[in-house]
Amino acid sequence: MPAPPASILEQPVTVLGGVGPERAALLAQLGLRTVADLLHHRPRRYEDRRHFHPIRELTAGESALTIGRVVAAGVKRWRRGTRSLFELILEDGTGRLHCRWWNLPFLEEHFHVGDELVVFGKVRSLKPPTMDHPETEVVEGDVDRSIHVGRLVPVYPLTAGLTQRVLRGLVWRALRLAGAQVPDPWPPVTTATGLSRARALQLLHFPEQDGDAEAARRRLALDEYFELQLRLQRRRHTLQTRAAALPCAGDNRWMRPFLARLGFPLTPAQTRVLREIRADLAGPHPMRRLLQGDVGSGKTVVAACAALMALESGGDVAFMAPTEVLAAQQFERFRAWFAPLGIPVALRTGGRKTAEGASPGPGLPGVTPAPTLTVGTHALLEPGYDPERLGLVIIDEQHKFGVAQRKQLVRKGRYPHLLVMTATPIPRTLGLTLYGDLDVSVIDALPAGRGVLRTFVRGAERLPRVWEFVRAQLARGRQAFIVYPRLEETDPVAGLKAVLTECERLRAALAPHRVGLLHGRLSAEDKARVMAEFRANRVQALVCTSVVEVGVDVPNANVMVIENAESFGLAQLHQLRGRVARSPHPAYCILVAAARTAEARERLRVLEETTDGFRIAEADLRLRGPGELLGQAQSGAPAFRFGELETDLALIEQARALARDWLARETGPPPGGTPPSAGAVVSVAADEAPKPPGQGTTIG
Ligand code: ADP
Ligand code: MG
Repeated sequence: MPAPPASILEQPVTVLGGVGPERAALLAQLGLRTVADLLHHRPRRYEDRRHFHPIRELTAGESALTIGRVVAAGVKRWRRGTRSLFELILEDGTGRLHCRWWNLPFLEEHFHVGDELVVFGKVRSLKPPTMDHPETEVVEGDVDRSIHVGRLVPVYPLTAGLTQRVLRGLVWRALRLAGAQVPDPWPPVTTATGLSRARALQLLHFPEQDGDAEAARRRLALDEYFELQLRLQRRRHTLQTRAAALPCAGDNRWMRPFLARLGFPLTPAQTRVLREIRADLAGPHPMRRLLQGDVGSGKTVVAACAALMALESGGDVAFMAPTEVLAAQQFERFRAWFAPLGIPVALRTGGRKTAEGASPGPGLPGVTPAPTLTVGTHALLEPGYDPERLGLVIIDEQHKFGVAQRKQLVRKGRYPHLLVMTATPIPRTLGLTLYGDLDVSVIDALPAGRGVLRTFVRGAERLPRVWEFVRAQLARGRQAFIVYPRLEETDPVAGLKAVLTECERLRAALAPHRVGLLHGRLSAEDKARVMAEFRANRVQALVCTSVVEVGVDVPNANVMVIENAESFGLAQLHQLRGRVARSPHPAYCILVAAARTAEARERLRVLEETTDGFRIAEADLRLRGPGELLGQAQSGAPAFRFGELETDLALIEQARALARDWLARETGPPPGGTPPSAGAVVSVAADEAPKPPGQGTTIG
């Protein structure tokens, strides 16, 4: 039996008149294969062609849109034909405009005397009126007139060989043919906005008045946000109805001596967060919690306390860090804390696969091995790591991992509790989309007694003074990080200094102080050795790539110099400088910009002005978009076609509320009676499914 005919929306673009195989291939380069793809091709901007500028009223130096007829056109060539100028003259009844293009002689084929032409560009001069390299569009016939002029017209992302005019015409035809058949996927969104998706698409491409296009975008974005929020909330709902958690709140038998020996009291913020975590660990459902706290706010101690609760309850704990350096450091810290309590602590990294520091051995028959804390990198995800009774998973610097990895680790147990920690302050819009399925705890105050961190932006010409300053600090017994954006000169980006070359120079410049070198290509042993030397103050300056970005803790280091600072994101720079505000000594971060443009230096000024991580993250989101904040590792980050995280907080919150109501009607009120509050959502999807019963042992 032949398959039923697909909806017109699913038909290939070739069903539209004027699209043959060649044009279809061009459209495919833009990802436009079906009629529906065309309908969802988002304009990158709009041009107001309701009003054209009379040529006589053009102003030099300003951009203008005008329309007229070509009255003359021709190419001049010189230097034996290697250089050329194509020029045409446009006449609109009020004056004549010269449009010029250098070294594009083939344009002669495109324009003909008598053509009606829309041009947009900057007026270079008025004697005579001239534009250089304007955008142009030929207007042909009456149909064209209604699509391409006399209205707000969309301007699309293009590919070579395709013109705005052709694409706009195709979208117009696609709308006429199939626009009305676009379904409304989420009724609550239609009700809330009073706008069908079909109508929104029409207005997105061909807005009828100012504001239509943005209203349409928001309507379409709301569908995207609603879908995501519904997925997150469904997952949370499933988790709460299906998954029974291991009780992991502990009995304080190790917690008490641990805190007594810690050497400092917990801050009120740490205590509050631990109370939230303990309530989760004691509760009937697995914890799904995000712990946010600026660099240096003391998340590791909180993680240690959470681990102790689970260990006291007989659960194994996995602690995953993004780099070997960091895993090794955290392993040392946990071992120093836990070994005196007799708790086995193991390390698993790519470089060091075998567990270290653990003492359980093969275990005597009939004797349950002691619950173990295993610290590691991605190596924890590999098959060799099979904890007996995984009670708690902790992921440090979550923003360095993908959502998929988080799930992979959680799947090693039967619904273990999950605590993810991040120092990247996430603007709320991003938090709600990325971590919308997690409860959120925030450590909002640094431990007391930290030195003040001051940040300076300097041009590269001031470097000699910078090194002088660094030497003076080293002479006082302090230590310094010196960070470069890349490893070797041969790395692709030109103009960026490389750590390998600069290191030699600095050894000379900072002598007799000793300079260590740390970067991602060192072996695990070498990294560990260099870090140990730096920590012990056997080397005074550490020259490194941004491998120190996260988590490295050397309190005596109070100076950080970052060269080519303009090549880093603001949030990343904030992370980096967080390494040096960890002691009572005043700390200094010097951002050296090689930037030729004042603009890049201006961007860095945000860091001089504030140490508020959230403000910095917002600025980064505005300036560089979400990709920068997320890093490439956030493969699980949702991509939005119409959503704009920079501006859509209110929309995302609306979507959350709509999804909550929708789910409540679908399933009845959530168990436990508490509807997910702001920052609280979640469930278990199939992808978080636990290993089969029998392999894990439920405790309690
Ligand atoms: P981050 O939140 O960046 O992971 P860490 O957990 O590495 O921060 O803590 C930074 C430093 O602050 C560490 O040296 C840690 O021992 C110290 N610290 C943590 N909590 C406190 C506290 N309550 N009082 C004093 N120092 C603390
Ligand atoms: Mg940390």
